[in-house]
Amino acid sequence: MSDHLKPETLALRTGIHRSQFNEHSEALYLTSSFVFDSAEQAAARFSGEESGNIYARFTNPTVTAFEERLAAMEGAETCVATATGMSAITACIMGLLSAGDHIVASQSLFGATVNLFNNILKKFNVETTFVSATDTQSWEAAIKPNTKMFFLETPSNPLTEISDIAALSEISRKIGAFLVIDNCFCTPILQKPLELGADIVIHSATKYLDGQGRVLGGAVLGKRDVMMDGGVYGFLRTAGPTLSAFNAWVILKGLETLKVRVDAHSKNALQMAHWLESHPKINRIFYPGLPSHPQFELAKRQQATGGGIVTFEVKGGKEAAWRVINETQLVSITANLGDVKTTLTHPATTTHGRISQEARDAAGITDGLLRIAVGLEAVEDIQADLARGLG
Ligand SMILES: *Cc1c(COP(=O)(O)O)cnc(C)c1O
Repeated sequence: MSDHLKPETLALRTGIHRSQFNEHSEALYLTSSFVFDSAEQAAARFSGEESGNIYARFTNPTVTAFEERLAAMEGAETCVATATGMSAITACIMGLLSAGDHIVASQSLFGATVNLFNNILKKFNVETTFVSATDTQSWEAAIKPNTKMFFLETPSNPLTEISDIAALSEISRKIGAFLVIDNCFCTPILQKPLELGADIVIHSATKYLDGQGRVLGGAVLGKRDVMMDGGVYGFLRTAGPTLSAFNAWVILKGLETLKVRVDAHSKNALQMAHWLESHPKINRIFYPGLPSHPQFELAKRQQATGGGIVTFEVKGGKEAAWRVINETQLVSITANLGDVKTTLTHPATTTHGRISQEARDAAGITDGLLRIAVGLEAVEDIQADLARGLG
């Protein structure tokens, strides 16, 4: 479909392959395998002479529909869907890197990603150097002769630090390393990393793409040669962390409302951020849509809005932060994000609880910090819910 269409249009009008019943809403193909007309056709499918479905670990029409739709929205040549966001990251690395390769990664990454790099990839002799998300020079300084990948999230979790994707792509390009962006917080509605010079986009579809906290899913997006010949898809179809057809169908339908949801999340989050910034019990606030954010100008260039996640530090440390959580009656106390229901979490004792106090202090994850993934309830109701514990 034509390139000039906007993401919200692509979300509704791509990836559609109607069956003989001419259904309007996309069909869900719950089948693990596909039948052939003849022995000849089976042989042609397996040899690759004829394209078509064989087995759902390789392809499934519902999964393909999701892949085509998300690829169109991100402006990517190819998308491969995965069972979870973590298996998207794993497939990307297992497909593209080899033993002896080196990764430069942001030190502000999703906890499981840090564990993957530190504890699992190390066993296969893939080493990672962690650097500041915001200090572009430190990425260049960390380069080794065997550096093959830059990996980051922007905005980061939970402090919403912004990395300069275009500047980093200039550096990674010089050494022929892949620039990989986990675009979970922004989604293609707010930020298109491939247009800014990234090579690969990762998604945890579990978050905003589904948007209603129902299923797990993930995706890796990029150029056809990188994804196919480069081995990302090869890893998936062999190792098997493919997306289930049911989950693909849920997320496919989730994409249809992504634009209106993300816009509404952003609007509510900005309103929350303004309210929190002026609240006497708040020390600091981290939201890329506020002029007080240290990378406000970069965020404005790189992403359409500040997004749906607001992080703030309450006065009085852990006790005060826990009081806010425990006094809520409406918002959900959970570490998940990207849901239409507002979620509230205390990073220091949950998502970042397993790292040392020193590492937490260095990263700025203080005991008074709370992260709110602002949902689609009325902002006044969310504010009243937090105000109770803020006192
Ligand atoms: C949740 C998350 C992941 C992992 O996704 P799963 O679907 O839970 O495996 C990766 N990156 C970011 C930024 C996330 O928020």
